[in-house]
Parts: sequence; structure tokens; C-alpha cells
Amino acid sequence: MSDETIFSKIIDGEIPCEEVFSDEYCLAFKDIQPQAPVHILIIPRKKIQSLNEIKEEDKFLLGHLVYVASIIAKEENLEDWRTVINTGSKAGQTVFHLHIHVLGGRSMKWPPG
Ligand code: 5GP
Repeated sequence: MSDETIFSKIIDGEIPCEEVFSDEYCLAFKDIQPQAPVHILIIPRKKIQSLNEIKEEDKFLLGHLVYVASIIAKEENLEDWRTVINTGSKAGQTVFHLHIHVLGGRSMKWPPG
């Protein structure tokens, strides 16, 4: 599977996005098809297809991505919010560049479908 995805094009600036956070490790931007009033995606700049491809060397990067999720939730004034990482197509992953969904601004049900 090619590691070139729509998200690598967003990182390279070839496709625009509504950026909400950026640093040397990651980029966060609004989802193009929001599923909640707040729906932000956090992606590592490093090309990692999914959690199935994570190596031990990536564990600090993963922690950083979750930390950034907490920063974004604060900036969005969210107290109740959800993070989602879909891994594999049967779990709902459609873009094969690792990403964390940050969803908030409405009530949510459990379990997810
Ligand atoms: P997944 O289904 O892989 O967990 O999530 C992929 C997410 O990326 C979806 O929520 C989808 O709406 C979003 N998405 C797909 N293409 C684009 C795009 O070009 N720009 C933005 N901002 N979001 C996108």
C-alpha cells in the first residue's frame, strides 16, 4: 500500500486545511465532514499508516499526539469529549495515515456503531 495519502498532501501544503494546531511533530485541522460541532483531526508529520504499524520508537510521539488532543480540547472549551483512532477498514479507517479524531460539543452514545 502506498504511504501517499490525502493527509500527506495536507502536511506538504498541496491540499488546504483549516489548521488549529501545528508543531514539529504533528498537525491538527478541522475534519471536512464534521460528525460533531467540534471535530478535529490530529495527524503525525511522520508517515505511519495506522496503530498496526507503530514501532517502539513511536511511543513518545503517540503520547505527544494525545497531549495535543488535551490542548485542543481546552482551546475549544470542551469538558466532555471523545478521542477516536480507527485502525483498519473494518474499524472505519478510510485514510491510511494515523490520526486521532477529537469530537465534542454534543452528547455521545456508547458503544459506538
Ligand atoms: P477515518 O475514517 O480514516 O478514521 O477518518 C478520516 C477522516 O478524514 C474522516 O472523518 C474524513 O471526513 C476526513 N477527511 C477525509 N479527507 C479529508 C480532507 O481532504 N480534509 C479534511 N480536513 N478532512 C478529510
